[in-house]
Amino acid sequence: MRRGGITRDADITGKVIGAQRRDDLRAPQVVASALAPSIGRVHPPSPDTPAGAGPLPLTHNYSGYKSYEYVKTNRDFTEYDLIEGESLFEPYLVPLTPAEEARVTDLVDRILMISLHEHPHLMPARADQIRAYDSEGRVHTAYEALADSWWDCVFDNFLDGAACITSKNGWKWDDIIYDMGMRYCDLAHQDFIIRCERVDDIYRAHREGRIALIGAQEGAAMIENELDRIEIMYGFGLRVLGITYSESNALGTGLKETRDGGLTSFGRKAVRRMNEVGLAIDCAHASDQTTLDTVEHSRHPIFLTHTGARGLWNIKRLAPDNVIRAVADKGGVIGIEAAPHTTVSPRHRRHGIESFMDHFEYVKDLVGIDHVAFGPDTLYGDHVGLHNVYAAALSIDETQDAGTGDAPEHIPVDYVRGVENPTEGSKNIPRWLVRAGYSDEDIAKVMGENIMRVLKEVWQ
Ligand SMILES: [Zn+2]
Repeated sequence: MRRGGITRDADITGKVIGAQRRDDLRAPQVVASALAPSIGRVHPPSPDTPAGAGPLPLTHNYSGYKSYEYVKTNRDFTEYDLIEGESLFEPYLVPLTPAEEARVTDLVDRILMISLHEHPHLMPARADQIRAYDSEGRVHTAYEALADSWWDCVFDNFLDGAACITSKNGWKWDDIIYDMGMRYCDLAHQDFIIRCERVDDIYRAHREGRIALIGAQEGAAMIENELDRIEIMYGFGLRVLGITYSESNALGTGLKETRDGGLTSFGRKAVRRMNEVGLAIDCAHASDQTTLDTVEHSRHPIFLTHTGARGLWNIKRLAPDNVIRAVADKGGVIGIEAAPHTTVSPRHRRHGIESFMDHFEYVKDLVGIDHVAFGPDTLYGDHVGLHNVYAAALSIDETQDAGTGDAPEHIPVDYVRGVENPTEGSKNIPRWLVRAGYSDEDIAKVMGENIMRVLKEVWQ
């Protein structure tokens, strides 16, 4: 993350009253919000901003664009009360000493900051409006909140199984194309987010104080039995594709199933086509055997973009040691997940930044620092509420037990403290690593370089 040439004026309540780009001096656009100050406004001041001075630095070159402002709200689409650039739940920053604050500020300016898995969009403030908002097919990218984050690059997994625009249960070709097409149309109308298609786009985003958004889908059910759809999705801009979501499909067994048939013969052909096209492979929701088979048949390393260690917390949603080792042995990378009630640990039974980092350290100790990254899988809104609304479509119940009916006991939470949304995670992960005494080199690897190594090989 390199700070952009932006200033933002805030009044005494923390309300943003204007955003202005210094270099072109265009008229300030009102991006006011009536909610509490966002987490972004409590990050450490940059060295060129005296403490207590008026304008706060935005971390990116963002000029105030809002989703779909090129058409009319309530004429062309229904307006919902969305969470805009704010934390719905109590913000939390990992506390640091002044020396550590200085170190993390300097470090995140220099290194590449990449999130391997997010849903960086705005959700309705009310959970009972989530399904209607998703069915509208006009998901709003969280431009302002992302501008307040420390990310240079974010893997964007769109609506996922919640893309229910024409169907009740999701993962349909029409729904995925509708969701991706609408989001990409919106992206084409602004100049802050870069639609990422090659690794150079990530370096450019870092250089220019912008964010590279990488199109990803968590499962391949929508290709049905049509291999050519892999190329069609790539043509639309997709750069990462999951083999299965938790439910099985034509490619293989998903992680919620009780019998594990691994990768199908069609799945093997799909892996070959993805390798040939240059589409990265994700097995975060595939069964253990499907992941092992994919590692074996793929010419390139693969990702588990968002998971944790079943060896630490025994639920099906997380990956066992032998699967993590196989992915790492092939050169792949494991991103640590933070969706509610996943990466809980025996030491921290209340899900939050501390239990999340327990999983990071477990995987790092298992396979080494070169094979770990972070895929927090967060969004701007009520993630627990979303899980309740889509419990069936997202296979929440079947993946949060151990498969044997004796899942470990966690303490239920309303949100994941410290990793509640992409902005908060972007700050607390490097802060935690600095506080824990990791070297600059190791932090650079897990925050971005490991992912870049795989992308350079896979995308070519
Ligand atoms: Zn997922």
